[in-house]
Amino acid sequence: MLRLDSSLMIVTDLDGSLLDHHDYNWEAASEWLARLKQHAIPVVICSSKTAAEIIPLQKRLGLSGTPFIAENGAHVALHGEPILQNEPDENYLALCNTLRTLQATYRFSGFHDFSDAEVARFTGLTLAEASQSRLRQASEVVLWRDESNKLDDFRIALAEHGLTLTQGGRFWHVMPVGCGKGIALTQLLQSLAQHKANPLTTIGLGDGPNDAPMLEQVDYAVVIKGFSKTPVILQRNDQQNIYHTAHVGPRGWREGLDYFLAQPD
Ligand SMILES: [Mg+2]
Repeated sequence: MLRLDSSLMIVTDLDGSLLDHHDYNWEAASEWLARLKQHAIPVVICSSKTAAEIIPLQKRLGLSGTPFIAENGAHVALHGEPILQNEPDENYLALCNTLRTLQATYRFSGFHDFSDAEVARFTGLTLAEASQSRLRQASEVVLWRDESNKLDDFRIALAEHGLTLTQGGRFWHVMPVGCGKGIALTQLLQSLAQHKANPLTTIGLGDGPNDAPMLEQVDYAVVIKGFSKTPVILQRNDQQNIYHTAHVGPRGWREGLDYFLAQPD
């Protein structure tokens, strides 16, 4: 079992992991969050959510100022994010233009195609949260409405535009090739290593296929039971460092930390 010491870092997905898939609460995880905070162990959010969504959440979770990974790795914030724009980024709008051309061939919708109110309705987010979820910088959330056997062709078409597709717990996500939670985490760890004498030991927690690249990179992986039809499959050989939870959401999150981390006496 690992001890609560200063060389530890937690890397976590939000929806379906630290946050409940349906109502976004994190009550079951709050005891661990307090304990980690007490021991100054950083909890790095690694999510498909936008920076505009993550920053207020960090505040409510007591994690302000901690680095985070947004939009599935398309955006890494090393010191939190000082300045937030209140409109979508140009890179994002260019990506949406590319997707619009593909909508002639494939049936799908992106967050860009909806209003805040519509996003709020089908995600269960509040109107303000839905608005934050649409302040995107580098990736698009996609609701696939076509046959699932067309996804492979869609993937090929995206690759021709330098884009890639990954599956979250709820939606599909399109982002530039070379982005992903795993690559972003590697970048983050490299930056942090410049200021740290000892290498960090990482525990990662996630429930969706988009978490797999992150869960491959961490020292200890908690695969939280999820709602996605696609299972999270890890290629790593150290099975003893992988734990699959019996519970979903924040209860699974707690279960995973209970498994790997010793509680203080
Ligand atoms: Mg998730």
